[in-house]
Amino acid sequence: MINLDKLIRENIKKLKPYSSARDEYYGEASVYLDANENPFNSPYNRYPDPLQRELKEKISQVKSVHYDNIFLGNGSDEPIDLIIRAFCEPGFDNIVSIDPTYAMYQVAAEINNVEFRKVLLSEDFLLDAGKLFTVSDQNTKLVFLCSPNNPTGNYFDESEVIKIIEGFNCIVVLDEAYIDFSGNNGFLKQLENYSNLVILQTFSKAWGLASIRLGMAFASRQIISVLNKIKYPYNVNYLTQQYALEALDKIENKEDWVRYIISNKLLLMEELESVKTVKRIYPSDANFLLIKVDEPKMVYEYLVENKIIIRNRSNVSLCAGCLRITVGTQDENDILVKALKKY
Ligand code: PMP
Repeated sequence: MINLDKLIRENIKKLKPYSSARDEYYGEASVYLDANENPFNSPYNRYPDPLQRELKEKISQVKSVHYDNIFLGNGSDEPIDLIIRAFCEPGFDNIVSIDPTYAMYQVAAEINNVEFRKVLLSEDFLLDAGKLFTVSDQNTKLVFLCSPNNPTGNYFDESEVIKIIEGFNCIVVLDEAYIDFSGNNGFLKQLENYSNLVILQTFSKAWGLASIRLGMAFASRQIISVLNKIKYPYNVNYLTQQYALEALDKIENKEDWVRYIISNKLLLMEELESVKTVKRIYPSDANFLLIKVDEPKMVYEYLVENKIIIRNRSNVSLCAGCLRITVGTQDENDILVKALKKY
């Protein structure tokens, strides 16, 4: 068992958090005169529930995770930043992660003046737990992993991930933003076994709700209570909470979209195989494909001229020549392939 108390920054442990009006009284009343709100324009005149209780109850049912093990934020980018601020002493502690991966981990670390140590994946984008241990020391407070990984698209060998969770004496954040597309259950079921594990998921991908900005962090009660202590009081707005509640009642939409995107991804892979400029298509457990071409910048610019936007990832470690393509609708994919065939 990890001693979480030792990992939390001293100032955060000592912090007396801000207490909002809706923290002090939550329930049904006939007259609300506690939060200096405007009495008109209901329901938007009221501050939202700071702890998003109704929404968390529903997420708890859908994900089969206890309410107390759920944190909600303004996208998953919010918990990424909060976790760093809760556990890493600026200019002193460090974070270990992989390369390439989702760039926000490093950006959030650097904003917080926390050293970010990166370990290259193998040429085939595989994870080697042993390599991560070699760059860590007693000031390593966090490990960031992402599976399926962005931009490489692959789901990491679970036994390597377990070696990291069990072998590191610190918090391990496992970002599962793309888990719905992978055909794997991910690590939510194992949350109870690991008090140092934080799992990130999001409404931005499979749920089709990137614009409402809603991210989830699942972790031990103690970690969740630290995140609640340091978040902005009303970090998830009322409209987002309401919209997410409605979406959770229509889970079949999400499941249909995931099935559609996965089958379309396979079709797109087949189509891309016959495109001359495409030299390699990497296996993908996500809703995007990483492909290798001869002239990535030229191909990218040619597509932009044709009003088709993909991502040029050719400057990312191990990704020379690579472009990242999100799987779209059948029509969108056809337009892309047609354009690439003309390149
Ligand atoms: N994690 C990964 C791996 C991502 O690729 C992204 C977005 N591209 C995010 C998190 C951000 O998700 P959110 O929209 O929930 O902030």
